[in-house]
Amino acid sequence: MDVARLRRRILSWYGKQKRDLPWRQSRDPYRIWISEIMLQQTRVAAVIPYYERFLARFPDVLALAAAPEQELLAAWAGLGYYARARNLHAAAKKIQELGGFPSDHPSIRELPGVGDYTAAAIGSIAFNLRHGVLDGNAARVLSRLTVERGSIDSGVVKKRLRASVDRLIDPKRPGEFNQALMELGATVCLPKQPQCRQCPWACECQAFRLGIQDELPMRAGRPEAVGVEKQLLMIERAGKILAWQRPAQSRRLAGFWELPETDQLPGAKVESRVAGFRHTIVNTNYRIAVFRASLARTPKGFHWLTTKELGEIPLSTTTKKALACVTK
Ligand code: SF4
Repeated sequence: MDVARLRRRILSWYGKQKRDLPWRQSRDPYRIWISEIMLQQTRVAAVIPYYERFLARFPDVLALAAAPEQELLAAWAGLGYYARARNLHAAAKKIQELGGFPSDHPSIRELPGVGDYTAAAIGSIAFNLRHGVLDGNAARVLSRLTVERGSIDSGVVKKRLRASVDRLIDPKRPGEFNQALMELGATVCLPKQPQCRQCPWACECQAFRLGIQDELPMRAGRPEAVGVEKQLLMIERAGKILAWQRPAQSRRLAGFWELPETDQLPGAKVESRVAGFRHTIVNTNYRIAVFRASLARTPKGFHWLTTKELGEIPLSTTTKKALACVTK
């Protein structure tokens, strides 16, 4: 492998072809950090509006550290994986205690919610640290470049791919190299039908030379998706809607507000079906039906909220969708 040639080619390609994304206009570690956390398991197009709104509301780490958790969760609502928002909050407080954003890899890695990949991305982009990133896009490109036939989900293979990226990373421009590698995976070396004719690495890519790029990377089998049916109740009284808040120790969506489900309120009188929609979370496909219902007495743990109040608190995505269906 001609490492110097690979570096030259990918950096030149990135300089000409990179997408104009809002977090690429800055090397401020706070902005890079927020973007990297939002981009975990979330598509670029979905992140952009959240990123811009979030930074308008919390323009720096001090504003984020000082914000009430409910306000932070409300700003995050809809992005999913809410542990990320809680970790951001805890990390902002830690950065405040440290007196500024840490600038070495081990200290960045110690922030809540920051793993190897995120620490490498922040460190290389904001502080020029030479740590290669290995997200899903980078792993796919490298597994094809080197014809890695083991499953990219296995620890041994990840170690081999990490060694490849650490060898390839440009020591003078580590941040740009990392971004270029991820960009190549996101826009050219696609999971299906990679665009090898437009790839700056085609000249060195072993999978392309062998014509097996569509067969890589190898993956261990994934569990099948499961279907779940849910029935939500829309209960109104004097212009207010009945809702409940998940406890702080809830495994999912802790602190978020939801509409009640039928089995939580056996005393409710169900009147008519008013909406239905689908919602997917990781490996579960939900089919959700919304019913209007009435209730003689307010059960313990439930609250009546105005539409304005509902707009100011963190709502689960299913509740947001249900309210949008019913109130439009
Ligand atoms: Fe991916 Fe094709 Fe480029 Fe190889 S040549 S890195 S398979 S896009």
